[in-house]
Amino acid sequence: MQYVSTRGQSPAVSFSQAVAQGLAPDGGLYIPEKLPDLSTLFAECEGLSYMELCYRFFKVFATDMDPDVLQACVEQSYQPFNHPEVAPLVSLDDETYVLELFHGPTLAFKDFALQLLGNLYEEQITRTGETINVLGATSGDTGAAAIHGLLGKKGVRIFILYPDGRVSPLQERQMTCTGADNVYAMAIEGSFDDAQAALKDTFGDAGFKSQVRLSAVNSINLARVLAQCVYYVYAYYRLPESKRHAEFVVPTGNFGNVLAGWMAQKMGLPIKSFCVATNQNDILYRLFTSGLYEVQSVEPSHAPSMDIQVASNFERFLYFSQKGDAARVSEIMKRFKETGRYSFPNFAPDSFTASRVDDAQILEIITRVYKRYGYICDPHTACGFAADLDSSAPRKPRVILSTAHPAKFPAVIEQAIGKEATHPTLEALKQATPRKYHVGADKASIQSFILEHGIRDAAL
Ligand SMILES: *Cc1c(COP(=O)(O)O)cnc(C)c1O
Repeated sequence: MQYVSTRGQSPAVSFSQAVAQGLAPDGGLYIPEKLPDLSTLFAECEGLSYMELCYRFFKVFATDMDPDVLQACVEQSYQPFNHPEVAPLVSLDDETYVLELFHGPTLAFKDFALQLLGNLYEEQITRTGETINVLGATSGDTGAAAIHGLLGKKGVRIFILYPDGRVSPLQERQMTCTGADNVYAMAIEGSFDDAQAALKDTFGDAGFKSQVRLSAVNSINLARVLAQCVYYVYAYYRLPESKRHAEFVVPTGNFGNVLAGWMAQKMGLPIKSFCVATNQNDILYRLFTSGLYEVQSVEPSHAPSMDIQVASNFERFLYFSQKGDAARVSEIMKRFKETGRYSFPNFAPDSFTASRVDDAQILEIITRVYKRYGYICDPHTACGFAADLDSSAPRKPRVILSTAHPAKFPAVIEQAIGKEATHPTLEALKQATPRKYHVGADKASIQSFILEHGIRDAAL
């Protein structure tokens, strides 16, 4: 199978090339040339283990990989999860199911994609002998998941910039207490925006970039979206047959998670509908209810991993909904970039609903869900329970995707239910020794740090 860019100005590439490149050279995102019909494969997957299902799914896409190598990558990625089912589907009552996506090493759903991406990178490095230095900036969650995807991998060093004192103590420990020699958590003075600006400057230096083979941690890698398709298939077949018309409710920021479900549906998974569940940063809610895609300022919320301004993965959805007209996608993205808004006439994609909640409602939901079901949900997952605020709404079966473990957000949980949520992984971190590096938030300081600590090919 070949992969093309949503902007149509880059040559088609293989799976491994798409994974290695991340973003396409024309600024677009990679997508399969044609979405295959996998309805037969899906139907045969009922009852398979998560890893077996994942392997069979990826075999369709990673056609330039040796199947045994692929299988080993999949097993290495999901073995570290701390639940035998990897993505257990929990029933709260007859109509309400929670798909727990927080049993990975950092207790958030990004582990599904980043564990696999880390193993795919390592496999490519071993095969080509080309080492990489990965650089990213984080306001919290993504950095931790990226670090855990790459820690201990051969031929990779990972450098993550974060604003000193402005990520939660727990998030900082997840980045600084890994004990891995190839991980550099770099605390910089200033805000997340300062970290981002320094990152951009460093990447802007093409000479330096190629000298140390600098690679980005980005949210738009093809392998991430495909890895996320798998748990929709898994969850669908775990539902009792009489509940398979359930709506899948997806707490959303960059549209990556819900896009994966929608792609699985387009490939033949018979999911009926999706709910795009946002917090107060509701660009996607506004889009799905009015057809207007418009940037507004970001207000920090109780669900910080969904605090985004533009949803980077939306471009893939746009490509498919414009029936593969890449010229039109480029034009829309250009207009949107220039004016900060785009109005879609008659925007009514089938199989989507949308919801939005503010911070007060997030707290109220956590309290209600706890009282009603005895279940503690994290602030991101709470956005998926928006329908529970309206007790007069007709009840219908739904699967709510739970994107993080509540123990990651102790202050909000305490405020909502008067007690703490805990997790052994996070408790253990409190005893570990942090290793953090203070580095200036400027290109020169970051570059000299990477030159000192980065990896060279000779090291492999
Ligand atoms: C990243 C993240 C989200 C949003 O996922 P998208 O793919 O950006 O829509 C939701 N919840 C948590 C906990 C996250 O880390």
